[in-house]
Amino acid sequence: MVEARATEAQANIGVVGLAVMGSNLARNLASRAGNTVAVFNRSHEKTDTLLSEHPEAHFVGTTTYAEFAASLTKPRAALIMVQAGAGTDAVIDELVKVFEPGDIIVDGGNSLFTDTIRREKAVRETGINFVGAGISGGEEGALRGPSIMPGGSDESWVTLGPILESIAAVVDGEPCVTHVGHDGAGHFVKMIHNGIEYADMQLIGEAYDLIRRGTGKSPTEIADIFAEWNTGELESYLIEITAEVLRQVDTSTGKPLVDMILDQAGSKGTGVWTVQTALDLGIPVSGIAEAVFARSVSSKPAQRAAAAALPGPTASPVEDVDGFIEGVRQALYASKVIAYSQGFDAIVAGAEQYDWDIKKGEIAKIWRGGCIIRARFLNRITEAYAEDPSLVSLVTAPFFTDVVAKAQDSWRNVVADAAHAGIPAPVFASSLAYYDSLRADRLPAALTQGQRDFFGAHTYKRIDKEGVFHTLWSGDRTEIETEGSGH
Ligand code: NAP
Repeated sequence: MVEARATEAQANIGVVGLAVMGSNLARNLASRAGNTVAVFNRSHEKTDTLLSEHPEAHFVGTTTYAEFAASLTKPRAALIMVQAGAGTDAVIDELVKVFEPGDIIVDGGNSLFTDTIRREKAVRETGINFVGAGISGGEEGALRGPSIMPGGSDESWVTLGPILESIAAVVDGEPCVTHVGHDGAGHFVKMIHNGIEYADMQLIGEAYDLIRRGTGKSPTEIADIFAEWNTGELESYLIEITAEVLRQVDTSTGKPLVDMILDQAGSKGTGVWTVQTALDLGIPVSGIAEAVFARSVSSKPAQRAAAAALPGPTASPVEDVDGFIEGVRQALYASKVIAYSQGFDAIVAGAEQYDWDIKKGEIAKIWRGGCIIRARFLNRITEAYAEDPSLVSLVTAPFFTDVVAKAQDSWRNVVADAAHAGIPAPVFASSLAYYDSLRADRLPAALTQGQRDFFGAHTYKRIDKEGVFHTLWSGDRTEIETEGSGH
């Protein structure tokens, strides 16, 4: 039974949706000086639990949307943390009825950015501000300090900025939150963050698999290797937790837990959104795509069982164990640079397409803390964009060019070793192929254009003169200049 205490407007921020994320964010908000937090959940049990477990917190419990609105000082600001999709729409519909022009509705769930654009447009017509904010860091981050990627209007940022800055993770004295851009920009950037997370996780998985099958080392021994890597340039949350997962022993069998977990990876779909969006934007995010596909392959038990007897090599132990492990580390670093480079390409293309003024360096900065892909090398991305804000590709920034130049012999050897040993390393391999495609003097795209012109008269351009051309393939094969686009 929620004890409604909302007799007057006293809360400067409200949270709707008190499941894991919402209740932790509400607690985080309430723990900051100056904040009083109105809380509401559809089913009142969650509100009761939160209030009774944290009697000291500055919460105002509410049982209706009207009461929730009445408890908030103006301009009202409410953070929605409910199930993405229909749940979010349902809550917005209710809040719009009780809020007034100038108030702010923030969707902190994992919403698709195109939904956010749609919602922002609809809510704006009422005079109420709508902000889609990506929030990363899981439940722990929500409580202790997440990385926050808010979109929405400049007006809403004036009220919201200080509140979000008060709860975000802090790195080098700077809160991991920035006003990313208008309408859906925040959720777009959060989506790309998750896509990069897919690639990063798969790369770490490939590194683990190569070391395990290439050297015969145990999960505990490999945990030590990852812990060591985490003291150097690869230092990151994902490398850190990888060591912990590999070290974990299954209590019921005494075996490494990783050997007892079914090897079929799940997903909540944000990687797929990233790839679908990148395809629409024409941006190759091959590392992220291969990571999404790797999860798909893993989750096809019938196909895997049927294919288990297909011929192929069996990995045998490498001779130079230390050299091999160092090679894998370098391949991981180089491939990671490619994954981030591709992710930032998608951000640039999204910003162009949707007219968002996204500061790439600021994005790398707010990913340094709180979020799942937090990593030491994000500082280098911020520096690269500070040096050259119109950098055409992250991998061409001097620092990253140097990283890849140093790593590439090992990278090539690891990819070749993986192929020879029959160990799948799709993100290592596709990242290298992307790198070689980018740096190629000539690509077989010329032949592709010739083929397209042959079967579909799609025309082509020439390297030696302006214009658009077509060869009369089914005629006398002379070349004519056409009005076509050459594409
Ligand atoms: P969740 O399981 O996604 O959603 C449960 C919450 O949604 C409950 O409070 C539920 O209310 C409410 N809800 C569902 N439909 C509703 C409706 N029609 N009207 C009103 N309330 C409704 O909760 P979560 O895991 O805390 O995540 C919240 C959001 O954060 C999601 O968008 C999620 O994708 C995002 N997110 C989650 C994580 C994570 O690590 N879990 C990380 C980042 C972002 P009842 O209690 O009444 O059912």
